[in-house]
Amino acid sequence: MVPVVDKAPRFSAEHAVRLAAELYGLDVAAVPLPSERDQNFRLQAAAGAQYVLKIANRDEPREILELQNASIRHLTRHATGLAWPRLIPTAAGENIAHAGGHHVRLFTWIDGVCFAVQPHTPALLNALGRALAEIDNAFEGFAHPGAQRTFYWDLRQSALARPHLDLLPAPQRQIIEDFLDDCAAVEWDRLRHGFIHGDANDYNVLTDAAGSRVVSVLDFGDMVHSATVCDLAVGIAYAMLDKQDPIEAAAEVVRGYHALRPLTDPEIDAVYTLAVARLAMSVCYSAWQARVSPQNEYLSISEAPAWALLGRLARYPRGWPREVFRRACGHGAHDLTALLDRRRAHLGPSLSISYARPLHIIRGSMQHLYDADGRRYLDCVNNVAHVGHCHPRVVAAEAAQSALLNTNTRYLHEHLVDYLERLTATLPARLSVAFLVSSGSEANELALRLARAHTGREGTIVVDTAYHGNTNALVDLSPYKFNGPGGRGKPRHVEVVPMPDVYRGVRYAGSVAEAARRMDGVAAFFCESALSCGGQIILPDGYLNEAYAAVRAAGGVCVADEVQTGFGRAGSHFWMFETQGVEPDIVTMGKPIGNGHPLAAVVTTREIASSFANGMEYFNTFGGNPVSCAVGLAVLDVIRDEGLQENARDAGGYLLRGLRDLGGRHPTIGDVRGLGLFLGFEMVRNPETLEPAAEEAAELVNRMKDLGVLLSTDGPMHNTIKIKPPLVFCRGDADFLLDRLAQVLPQ
Ligand code: PMP
Repeated sequence: MVPVVDKAPRFSAEHAVRLAAELYGLDVAAVPLPSERDQNFRLQAAAGAQYVLKIANRDEPREILELQNASIRHLTRHATGLAWPRLIPTAAGENIAHAGGHHVRLFTWIDGVCFAVQPHTPALLNALGRALAEIDNAFEGFAHPGAQRTFYWDLRQSALARPHLDLLPAPQRQIIEDFLDDCAAVEWDRLRHGFIHGDANDYNVLTDAAGSRVVSVLDFGDMVHSATVCDLAVGIAYAMLDKQDPIEAAAEVVRGYHALRPLTDPEIDAVYTLAVARLAMSVCYSAWQARVSPQNEYLSISEAPAWALLGRLARYPRGWPREVFRRACGHGAHDLTALLDRRRAHLGPSLSISYARPLHIIRGSMQHLYDADGRRYLDCVNNVAHVGHCHPRVVAAEAAQSALLNTNTRYLHEHLVDYLERLTATLPARLSVAFLVSSGSEANELALRLARAHTGREGTIVVDTAYHGNTNALVDLSPYKFNGPGGRGKPRHVEVVPMPDVYRGVRYAGSVAEAARRMDGVAAFFCESALSCGGQIILPDGYLNEAYAAVRAAGGVCVADEVQTGFGRAGSHFWMFETQGVEPDIVTMGKPIGNGHPLAAVVTTREIASSFANGMEYFNTFGGNPVSCAVGLAVLDVIRDEGLQENARDAGGYLLRGLRDLGGRHPTIGDVRGLGLFLGFEMVRNPETLEPAAEEAAELVNRMKDLGVLLSTDGPMHNTIKIKPPLVFCRGDADFLLDRLAQVLPQ
């Protein structure tokens, strides 16, 4: 069975005027209304009354029209929260009249605005769900012989759309076929059945003028006996069109429906599949209609948005929307506490969790994270997902190599060599020898071993508030830890120099040389090329130049910890140390290097690497394996091909200007600083004394989360808001962030 294509001559407005006069004794003006199979006219009587004249398709059986009439009568009595049209009999007392081989009916007009043209606020989406639930609840007590038919829009008959797959362009055909396959697997016996409206598309749903209420759902032409959840599925299908976050919109409709007509578990699990199948069927029938009846434009109304939406939905993980809908129906509310309890039962208690009410994040895509309720968050803090969460090229490279081979560096492999060449090519020529490891801590640990082996000394200079990693040796190099809660203070072989904090006027010139003089001998100076834990501090011009000279004069080597700052984040340069015009002796890398895959690296000079090669083998089980190298290569490719360093410069510069602007209006913003997409601002209670506003900063982070933006605090006084998003963060994201900040900043 295929869509009915009406080839009968179409009625004109003059016809409609004549029919109104002849059959109903009305003197009206007529305007045609869009419809897929019928011909409808809006009639306006001189006295002001308005009607809809419905001229049915020639092939429409009378019993179907009787079913529609009976159902509208039924809903008028049982779905009283909505307005329903009243059927007007002809002057001769007939409910269904005849004209030119067509059945004709007249209904009263219902005032309202199409859902399609209203802003879809959460309240309106929720109201749509409630309206559909009210209809389905009312239909529970309705019986009629007419609706037991095989109807091509009935979602149970989605297979009827398959013959049209051939009409679709090849790349999209597979998407549609997959969605229809999903629908074919629905277990219909587990779903409640009844009469349904069957076509709550966005032009059939009427709202009040303010767009806060659903007034009615029109057009019963697609009524059928089917699974009742199909009404919700159709509503969702259209509610998802043109949405920034279609699943969040759909979840709101589900929430509204569930409040009035609690969904069963099988219904919750099926509704997304059915909604997508509706869209899939729609594009199939649209292609068919275009082929056989190009003049009928009705079906193509929503075709372009439907294709755009289907393309997006195809990229979503299959089970995710279902999870979101389960939560919308309250299934997840207890899970959060239960999940937290289970985590606490077995996870080491020194691992913290963010936010008083923890986030349950179940999906990531580029600069966004999504929680289990389907809420989307702009991620402004994750500098690990450097090229974007779950970037498809990185995921594909990892999956492909995982499926082929994963071993270690004891065999020859092109990926390892390619990667070493590509990575060292980003650095000054003398930094040409690399070690691949699995975490930033491992990289710094190895850097320390290299420095000690090369210099034969132990002493290390670090910058106050620094964090370099979680091993024993690195906690000793991390004032952030050894001077923090639970810390045991500074070890003897370590000297700490003050952070060069220009904003707070800290004296720093000569401090590294002084520290070197206090020590027995210097093995290394460890310094981030911009201070992360220190509170997003950009080093003053010449700082590293002077510090490196002092360290080298004392016989030590200079280690640039680029774990947080490397790979283009600076915008102007690929490595943050380049912004200081220096060349380190050892560079350590982590976090962004594998976009979330556990990959890290140490790159150094041939001389230092040779000093380390004293006969003891260095082996790293995971470091440099072919999968990690494939990931590392993909990350470098994406940074280059998507111009992400340039984007960091552009979007970062734009955001920095915006933040400075905001700072001009809000005295709590004490200092705005950063380079590229390594940014931060300090919050202070008093612009004169610079008293840190730590509680206000924590409060701001929490409120921003509620507004869909993830930020966090840093710095020794916990009053710096750090901003270091994935490098796909764009100017639009900056606007979003600035707008939300303006809402929550104290006036
Ligand atoms: N160095 C710096 C500057 C870091 O920020 C971190 C992690 N926060 C590390 C090293 C340690 O990296 P990892 O957690 O991968 O061991």
